Amino acid sequence: NRQILLASRPVGAPTPANFQLVETPIPQPGPGQMLLRAKWMSLDPYMRGRMSDAKSYADPVPVGGVMTCGAVCEVMQSNHDGYAPGDLVMSYTAGWQDYSVSDGTMVFKLDKHMAEPSQALGVLGMPGFTGYMGLLDIGQPKSGETVVVAAATGPVGAVVGQVAKLKGCHVVGIAGGAEKCAYAVNELGFDACLDHKQADLAEQLAKACPKGIDVYFENVGGKVFDAVMPLLNAHARIPVCGLIAQYNATELPAGPDRMPQLMRLILSQRIRMQGFIIFDNYGPYYPDFLKEMTPWVAEGKVKVKEDRVTGLENAPQAFIGLLEGKNFGKLVVQIAD
Ligand code: NDP
Repeated sequence: NRQILLASRPVGAPTPANFQLVETPIPQPGPGQMLLRAKWMSLDPYMRGRMSDAKSYADPVPVGGVMTCGAVCEVMQSNHDGYAPGDLVMSYTAGWQDYSVSDGTMVFKLDKHMAEPSQALGVLGMPGFTGYMGLLDIGQPKSGETVVVAAATGPVGAVVGQVAKLKGCHVVGIAGGAEKCAYAVNELGFDACLDHKQADLAEQLAKACPKGIDVYFENVGGKVFDAVMPLLNAHARIPVCGLIAQYNATELPAGPDRMPQLMRLILSQRIRMQGFIIFDNYGPYYPDFLKEMTPWVAEGKVKVKEDRVTGLENAPQAFIGLLEGKNFGKLVVQIAD
């Protein structure tokens, strides 16, 4: 059983030295448990938080512990009444390893004949659900309003933008590089998409949002948020989903301190800004989400792009790349056929 452990806590951006690949015996399921073999493993930005012991909404991975992740797995052996060998499941506690033992906690059955099981990690799984709930529940987009989202071609941003289009909004994406921006407009149907690496992002954003911004779906923070702030309309909504621009930061950003400006804006524009953690806030809504999103994906109303990496041993490098924007689409690792 190959496992990838957290060898040490990163300072700044993670490096390969923070991870260690080890070989251990395949674990044996006890009473009420089952043995799962990972087929597709998910790499997500939140894992950077688990590598750190700073205070957060979830406990960190201990140094020497198996890195955490969700994976699409096959049930290999089962002492659990609800599962039989050959079942396909989504396990949110699988970890970066070939095999794991589970008592069924945070495990969901998938359709064995699902055309693309890896979609359970993206558009039909945690990130897609995040984009959908954050946008609809907190963002509350109305037809004709302007919605802005960064990390626009990733699984969260792509769902936010495409669902906002289905709701009749003017959608402006922000992404890293011309290729990602062209994809957001030509394939995902965004009205515009801007490259955050361009120095004149703020001017370009003002041009792309002539009626201001009603919903800013916050995925990144940093200079993107600086560009968004002056364009926020009265009663704008900001679902605060992620702040990936600062996950590797070791110190506060250079001044001036924008806090007074932000507080004044929240007050004078009566802005609603709300953070959320998907399964903490919205777990019970997951079946309703699937009911609406599954046909959208099947009918091509919501398009899907995956960035597929092969081999558990390549997960650390792929994860390091995710934090630098090297992925193009939902990053998944194929572990077994
Ligand atoms: P993505 O697949 O979109 O990958 C992250 C992307 O972030 C990169 O590809 C890159 O895209 C972009 N990025 C990285 N650094 C910067 C930067 N400095 N400035 C601007 N963009 C940057 O990830 P997900 O769709 O899985 O996640 C998107 C966000 O949602 C993350 O912040 C994540 O933490 C958050 N999240 C929150 C959840 C919750 O429950 N609150 C649940 C799931 C995700 P590009 O090259 O386009 O810049």
